[in-house]
Amino acid sequence: MTLQSVLEDIRKRPGTGEVIPVIDPVTEEQITEFTDCGEDAVNEAVAAARTSFDSGIWHTMPGRERAKIMWRIADLMDEHAQELAELDSLNTGMPLAQAQMIVPTCAEFFRYYAGWCTKVHGSAYEVQMQGGVSGAYADMHAYTLKEPYGVVGLIFPWNGPVFNACAKIAPALAAGCSSVVKPAEETPLSALLLDRLIHEAGVPEGVVNLLTGYGHTAGAALTAHPDVEKIAFTGSTEVGKKIVEASAGNLKKVMLELGGKSPVLIFDDADLDMAIMMASMGIFVHSGQGCVCGSRIFVQRGVYERVVDGIATVANNLKLGGPKEDGSMIGPLISAKQLNRVMGYIHEGKSDGVEVVTGGHRLDRTGYFVHPTVLTNVDPATSRLYQEEIFGPVVTVLPFDSEDEAVALANDTSYGLAATAWTTNLSRAHRIAKRLQAGTVSLNCQLVFDHAVPFGGYKQSGWGHEFGREGVEAYMQTKSVWAQL
Ligand code: NAD
Repeated sequence: MTLQSVLEDIRKRPGTGEVIPVIDPVTEEQITEFTDCGEDAVNEAVAAARTSFDSGIWHTMPGRERAKIMWRIADLMDEHAQELAELDSLNTGMPLAQAQMIVPTCAEFFRYYAGWCTKVHGSAYEVQMQGGVSGAYADMHAYTLKEPYGVVGLIFPWNGPVFNACAKIAPALAAGCSSVVKPAEETPLSALLLDRLIHEAGVPEGVVNLLTGYGHTAGAALTAHPDVEKIAFTGSTEVGKKIVEASAGNLKKVMLELGGKSPVLIFDDADLDMAIMMASMGIFVHSGQGCVCGSRIFVQRGVYERVVDGIATVANNLKLGGPKEDGSMIGPLISAKQLNRVMGYIHEGKSDGVEVVTGGHRLDRTGYFVHPTVLTNVDPATSRLYQEEIFGPVVTVLPFDSEDEAVALANDTSYGLAATAWTTNLSRAHRIAKRLQAGTVSLNCQLVFDHAVPFGGYKQSGWGHEFGREGVEAYMQTKSVWAQL
């Protein structure tokens, strides 16, 4: 399947809503377009998922057979890795090399979760209470079964299109669920190819159903649908709250992976060269469009000037550009809307007296590029750009004196997705790891990930976990069975 055929196929997808343009964020030109699928398509997709689930065609298939199909998906993704990478690179503007690095990791979601198809099980219990007709606890037996929820809706954003899709589809398949998948309206292209590969690998019809449409139309209809048992959502905290409200109709279960305003603490005993480089990349990579990006950096006073200068130097040396431009390290923001949002925060900060160490402006060229921006002299109590997730290449740097002050600053946020500490003091590192209110804490490292390690947010950064055993169990419910022997 060529890239061109994906661009053409998406135009042919049936729909009843608005025509949605797909824009190249590097050229600002339209790549292709598609029609919002509309509510009828949502109902059809949910009905197809329901029929496939009730037929048992997938969830009653022996785990080892489902695992083989999931391995085939991964193998097909490897075969089509270049096209998947090109589609994501074209659609998001990220450097092709970055997309090429990410796609194999995405394929591994299917191999990793293929293993769980044969390994998720319930438990048997030693019954402690007296009960049953005989009144003798020795005559009772209790055990649990792990069962797939049924029909699940998978909704995710544009910042890593293939990655976000695989992170949800693979565990849902391993659990035995039938799913309705809605990628972001900005980045539907790679999802089309992935959907093809999933079916080519042998996943039966109706088990995975792709919807292409807006969030407020297709996403909202899916979330409110009475025949969907669970929504797994990745996106903004704002939309996460809407998902919770819309789910109330049938009290469907909800898993949320939401936004962050992640702190990075740099102590004066840290390996400063490494800390400066990683803290810089930890916010500027992908133009800051990563949920775990460390957008609030706190530096111990004695090394504050050196770290601010170091981060500004890295920011000034990063080459921004499109996938086809030589030496591009960082791509653009995804859309004009996102560009306006990011620049809005920067303009507001400037008028509030924030000091711009570097950046603070859009590049003087075509494309939604914002110069990596380092801001100081920010008031944590009043500054919106300090308190709210910007999702752009914008970092605030503030000094601290003591460990207690650093922890207090780090935790002073409604978010709790990730946090980092740079220090060579081992005791302090682990002490801080316990005190930081975040679902993921990185010690002397940033931007780390493994399919096996659970990931989820504290506070308003989410509900539940993805990846690892928790990731597949998120798509399963627990049934307790009692038996009188
Ligand atoms: P968004 O919340 O606007 O959209 C995410 C998805 O939800 C899209 O597919 C969109 O179409 C859909 N959607 C929008 N409105 C909806 C509604 N009313 N009902 C149902 N679906 C709806 O997020 P975004 O701006 O596209 O993405 C950026 C956000 O995603 C950031 O906040 C970022 O932190 C977050 N994110 C979180 C993680 C994580 O794992 N915690 C990972 C990546 C991105």
